[in-house]
Amino acid sequence: MGGSVGVQAGRVCPGCGREDSIPLVYGTPGADLFEQAESGRVALGGCLMPEETAAFVCRSCDLAWGNESDPTADEATLAGLLDVGHAELVRALGAGWRREGVADGQDGVRWFVSGEPAQLAVGVQGPWFVLARPLMSWGEHRPGPLMGDGPRLTRDDVLHQPHLVAEVAEAIASHRRRSFRWCRTCRRATAPESFVASEGSCEGCVSAFADAGE
Ligand SMILES: [Zn+2]
Ligand SMILES: [Zn+2]
Repeated sequence: MGGSVGVQAGRVCPGCGREDSIPLVYGTPGADLFEQAESGRVALGGCLMPEETAAFVCRSCDLAWGNESDPTADEATLAGLLDVGHAELVRALGAGWRREGVADGQDGVRWFVSGEPAQLAVGVQGPWFVLARPLMSWGEHRPGPLMGDGPRLTRDDVLHQPHLVAEVAEAIASHRRRSFRWCRTCRRATAPESFVASEGSCEGCVSAFADAGE
């Protein structure tokens, strides 16, 4: 079970097509879990683990469905663009792919990012894809990176050299992680482009607590 509560991003209900599903938690709930269930951020599955367990419950139509390891809608889109299966995508490039906060680049390149904060980006254009460092402010302030940024990879690399692709991917991700700063307010890792050095905090905390001193 993941630690997250609330509506799960990218989990589109197969029953009604809405993105309004919350985690379904089994076992004897403690006080915290009861509170979260009261406020609709998790659903309680009861103490007996059924044989076929669902990971999510849709708040719109009440359908219990899915598995943590299922691809999200964005992951399915990425696997489709690369023309590989979900398991092959995860083996070479890892999981957690999403389009959130990323604008498509020039020349019809479609960008996806993974990691929290984003550590790796993949840009797909026709039969090729590139791996790049994500910059979350791409969309608003600057054009997306060009396809020329990294070596062009293909579906064949994902299928036949997954360890090699994974190595390139992890080199970019670990380099990016080293640039992260720690927010002294929420104490979460923060991407450098959303870190306000003068406040020692992330942009989110700076705007949320701007009036605290007055
Ligand atoms: Zn539904
Ligand atoms: Zn913060």
